[in-house]
Amino acid sequence: CGIVGYIGSKEATPILMNGLKKLEYRGYDSAGVAILHDGVIKMVKTKGRLATLESKLGTTDLRGNLGIGHTRWATHGEPNDVNSHPHISSSGKIAVVHNGIIENFMKLKEFLISKGYHFQSDTDTEVLANLIDYNYKGDLVKAVMNTLNDIEGAYALGVICTDCPDEFVAARKDSPLIVGLGEGENFIASDIPAILEHTRDVKILEDREVARITAGKVEIYNLLGEIVEREPFHVDWDV
Ligand code: GLU
Repeated sequence: CGIVGYIGSKEATPILMNGLKKLEYRGYDSAGVAILHDGVIKMVKTKGRLATLESKLGTTDLRGNLGIGHTRWATHGEPNDVNSHPHISSSGKIAVVHNGIIENFMKLKEFLISKGYHFQSDTDTEVLANLIDYNYKGDLVKAVMNTLNDIEGAYALGVICTDCPDEFVAARKDSPLIVGLGEGENFIASDIPAILEHTRDVKILEDREVARITAGKVEIYNLLGEIVEREPFHVDWDV
């Protein structure tokens, strides 16, 4: 039910955890983070509170400057560790956090199983990780766009890829997502309070837009692959 993402030169995990804390008001039953470091995605996730996640993190080496975090409000699959987000594709290449519901996930899951993909969870979200992996031909934005053309439902997404150490991708439809603009670092979040301690300059993603986020730049595309210009706005209130 809450998403945070970070790319920059700082340690991602504490930034993701602080952001998720600011989103606790949205409600959740599980939480997790995934970090890309040295070409490998490492994840820690758990049923329960952020404090539980924090104690699991304490025993794990989750260093890196690019990551995504999630608090889940289960819709498909009971709240447990395996169903918690992030979800990773069976090849280990793509990890996804997702808010919302993928209505046609069953049909897509059968298709992906026929293509050799394996599933671990009962969630609709795991289909996204494997479908983006299937659609990935060297450009993560294109892989996400093609995937969004295949799915029905509501989503806010954060996506990382082991081939892409310098970028991650965000997208949304019928579920909120904003991009926070820093200096040499950028953020995504479900809501502004999650990033307010880092920046007050924000771009709001509109429905059916996909953003390519690097440490120095944010590019927003529509589903035709055209760049969309979006003026940032300055948040002048406090939480
Ligand atoms: N439908 C997804 C799940 O059940 C996402 C739920 C959410 O928005 O947190 O895992």
